[in-house]
Amino acid sequence: MSSNQMSSNQTPQITLDVRQGGVEHRIPYSNKKNYAIITDLNKCFGCAGCQMSCKEWNTSGMFGPLPDLNPYGDLDVMFWLRVMYVEVGNYPQTKVYNIPINCFHCMDAPCVPVCPVGATFKRVEDGIVLVDYTECIGTKYCIYACPYGNRFFDYIEGVTKKCTHCFDRIYDPTLPPEERIPACIHGCMVQARIWADRLDPTDPGNILFIDKGGFVLGPETGANPASGYLPWHSKYAADNDVELLSESEYYDVWTSNGVVILGAQGNNSTYTEQNQSSSSSSNSSS
Ligand code: SF4
Ligand code: SF4
Ligand code: SF4
Repeated sequence: MSSNQMSSNQTPQITLDVRQGGVEHRIPYSNKKNYAIITDLNKCFGCAGCQMSCKEWNTSGMFGPLPDLNPYGDLDVMFWLRVMYVEVGNYPQTKVYNIPINCFHCMDAPCVPVCPVGATFKRVEDGIVLVDYTECIGTKYCIYACPYGNRFFDYIEGVTKKCTHCFDRIYDPTLPPEERIPACIHGCMVQARIWADRLDPTDPGNILFIDKGGFVLGPETGANPASGYLPWHSKYAADNDVELLSESEYYDVWTSNGVVILGAQGNNSTYTEQNQSSSSSSNSSS
């Protein structure tokens, strides 16, 4: 799989073959597994520990570094995982949904076939979608093809980067076995992030996803995301809390609020915020 080597100190450094086991560039894919992450919205309280764990790991992992061009200016920094905070309902009956978003390693990933040089691909062994930085020529086609804004351009290296499902953790033989999981799962203090193989009906994460009515964001995109969410249930909250949103309502809220501009990643960063709602005069016509 790889060649292991030691850096000058004694920090073990690994180099993994990203094409190990074969890769695919065209839909339909025929991968054997499709790794994914399921987030339980009942548990997630929006601490962003997963976001920071991702940043921390990947800035020093084999797929890093992540560029921070002007971190204290316009916040043009790169996060492969972004926790979105979406407030829904009418005051005072509102609720904030905390929604961590990173590459969904889609089962029909549209970001892959658009690459003119085959630099991005879906792995046969596990369905992980990766970018080979040594081949990427920076066309950004894949950034525009992703309906979820989950690909980012590194202006320093001139290549596209994205969540790797922590490929370089889960296959790292130098890590203790219990740490060979994605950093964002490892870093969630309430175990709201769950690893699943969406193609294995016996996989515990997949069973949980199906049994608990799991859903994906934007099913109408056709990308068929592998990662998804367990819906928030009002039975855990006060009687007068807001109702559970339907799948399509999640998508509508998410997009119409401008929290994420789908597929509009022209730069390398989060482009979070803000409700553009009638931005001009903020007077409510008396
Ligand atoms: S670390 Fe866990 S609780 Fe915190 S935002 Fe991420 S998924 Fe939610
Ligand atoms: S979320 Fe976007 S980048 Fe990730 S596999 Fe799906 S289309 Fe591609
Ligand atoms: S799986 Fe790894 S690369 Fe992907 S969001 Fe989680 S920590 Fe980041």
